[in-house]
Amino acid sequence: MKHRVRAALSVAILVALAGCSSGEQAAAPGATPGIDLSAITAPVNRLQAADLDPSVPACRDFNAHVNGKWLAANPVPADRTTWGSFELLGERSLQIQHAIAKAAMTGDAPAGTVERKVGDFFAAGMDEAAIEAAGVAPIAPILAQIDALASGEDIAAFLRQAYAQGRGMLFGFGANADFKNSEMVIAYAGQGGLSLPERAYYLEDREDYQRIRAAFVEHVAKTLELAGVDPESAAAQARQVLAFETRLAQASLPRVELRDPAKRYNPVSLAEADALTPNFSWTAFFDAIGVAQPEMFSLAMPGFFQEINAMLADTPAADWQAYLRFRTIDAAAPYLTSALEAQNFAFYGRTLRGQQQMQERWKRVLNSLNGAMGEALGQLYVQVAFPPESKAKMEKLVGNLSEALRHRLENLEWMGEETKAKALEKWSTFTPKIGYPEQWRDWSGLQVSADSYAGNALAAAAFNYRYMLDKIGKPVDRKEWFMSPQTVNAYYNSTRNEIVFPAAILQPPFFDPEADDALNYGGIGAVIGHEMIHGYDDQGSKFDAAGNFENWWTDEDRAAFESRTAILVEQFNGYEALPGLFVNGRLTLGENIADLGGLTVAYDAMRRAQGEGFVDPMIEGFTQSQRFFMNWATVWRRNFTEAELKVRLNTDSHAPANFRAIGAPSNMPAFAEAFGCESGDPMVREGDARVVIW
Ligand SMILES: [Zn+2]
Repeated sequence: MKHRVRAALSVAILVALAGCSSGEQAAAPGATPGIDLSAITAPVNRLQAADLDPSVPACRDFNAHVNGKWLAANPVPADRTTWGSFELLGERSLQIQHAIAKAAMTGDAPAGTVERKVGDFFAAGMDEAAIEAAGVAPIAPILAQIDALASGEDIAAFLRQAYAQGRGMLFGFGANADFKNSEMVIAYAGQGGLSLPERAYYLEDREDYQRIRAAFVEHVAKTLELAGVDPESAAAQARQVLAFETRLAQASLPRVELRDPAKRYNPVSLAEADALTPNFSWTAFFDAIGVAQPEMFSLAMPGFFQEINAMLADTPAADWQAYLRFRTIDAAAPYLTSALEAQNFAFYGRTLRGQQQMQERWKRVLNSLNGAMGEALGQLYVQVAFPPESKAKMEKLVGNLSEALRHRLENLEWMGEETKAKALEKWSTFTPKIGYPEQWRDWSGLQVSADSYAGNALAAAAFNYRYMLDKIGKPVDRKEWFMSPQTVNAYYNSTRNEIVFPAAILQPPFFDPEADDALNYGGIGAVIGHEMIHGYDDQGSKFDAAGNFENWWTDEDRAAFESRTAILVEQFNGYEALPGLFVNGRLTLGENIADLGGLTVAYDAMRRAQGEGFVDPMIEGFTQSQRFFMNWATVWRRNFTEAELKVRLNTDSHAPANFRAIGAPSNMPAFAEAFGCESGDPMVREGDARVVIW
């Protein structure tokens, strides 16, 4: 379970390969003096022929065939909510990070260095006695301010100040490239402020949501009590918090609508914004956060902000106080007393996601460190754990994938020449980033001490928020990364048309310099293809070669595209994840388009690399095509707790892993051919049911 570091402030537009996981990389033991990697025990996860289950034919259920035995033998550990290929790599990454953090903590790096800051942050986080002794003192001044709020104007002033310090809690506000002018950074405001994962948790009558709402009220009350509120008042405030958040939820858009860039972009002038929310002055807000008043910014979801405006006038100050008090304590709980941290885990970890135990303390502290200064830790990580040869091999793979994609675009049968020329223009502007940033962030403005864990977390939140705000009104910095190198994931960014592969995903089963081509193309090759195809998914395709939100399609071609994607929506709508609970084909459409296109392009690239006269080496009795698809499935082996799966079905734009293992291959004739599947087999989609897009 991740710490609830509320970084809801940024307005992300990038799409990741997988729902939240944390990062990692192959160790080169002893590469850096003082860092002991002998304790790295997490196994390397490679495709093994012995894992296959011959009792389930590949053509019936490919996931069960490749992963069934592994999934049965590797249940979710008590301190996790998911367990699979991503998590195994994440575990290795954490172990390497642990060795780095310990060496930094005990080493004698001088004050001001990245090593010293990493070491001091880790030391403060591990000092449980000091954390216990501090109690809620680190947030006491903020709680005192909240206690003094008496009017809507007081509340607006408090919010302005909280955002200025990187503690925004009511709505999202951050910096991003202007959708209509991708060279420049503007400010974006959008909905936020909910403690539960999605608006449906507040609004729907489902029995499990009712139970979670009741548990949430209990959690709010206990959290307030642990911070010194008397039990009777805490119980009353907890009911106020639920009512307050329910009103925010009613004014919020559902996840599936948020995928549409048009719903996230609404350029307004300051005067227009102030007129929309007369009780919340955006002019005063920009002044307070120290950002020059812009000519325009994006105020998306105007209905949400109108509701906040109304609440500033019609909701009693006491209700606002209850909400702000709870949100402040809840966000800081992971850095405060063991009782507050345990309460936080009991609700967000155990009740909401089915995690039985907290992770060990060092892992929790490293998760916080990643949130606070992930790229600083990454700077140390790549010195230990990223062999330079990996980058050269990846560049070659990206080049081969790119050529295969160009070939497919040129030969698309359903797209007219005019749109195709634009698609190829977009292809020519893809930018890959591999491993780690060529330019590291400057951390010199961040003060870190070995004495106060919460103090460090608050300082880092303010520092990181200021770093983001400082981009507003300036040209886009194309060198910057939005994932740290130790993250096991990858992403596509639509306003930059870039595909990004952090160091930690560049190891087995994704990438293995020792393995045959089939495994690398079925693993990282398909990931590369996946990220490229995001540029052409149902939303990414609304951005042009320059990264601007501009339509480059003829109406006819767009209609042809949508008739194809509609079949993919139906395919995934048909997957039942839990009894009565199905995948949301519309919420997951972008990822499913990327999987299908990415795997198809990767397969083409592998065949092109093999060339004419290729003699199949038949490794362990399997053809290269078979191993290609088997490794794709290996990447998507993953167990979930039932509660985690339920949360994800509502909130994650990625389908559960078992459906990703089978979804794309079942549309590919190459799969049927590789395994000798026949018409009518469950893994063979035919006729109008078969989806071909890219
Ligand atoms: Zn993706």
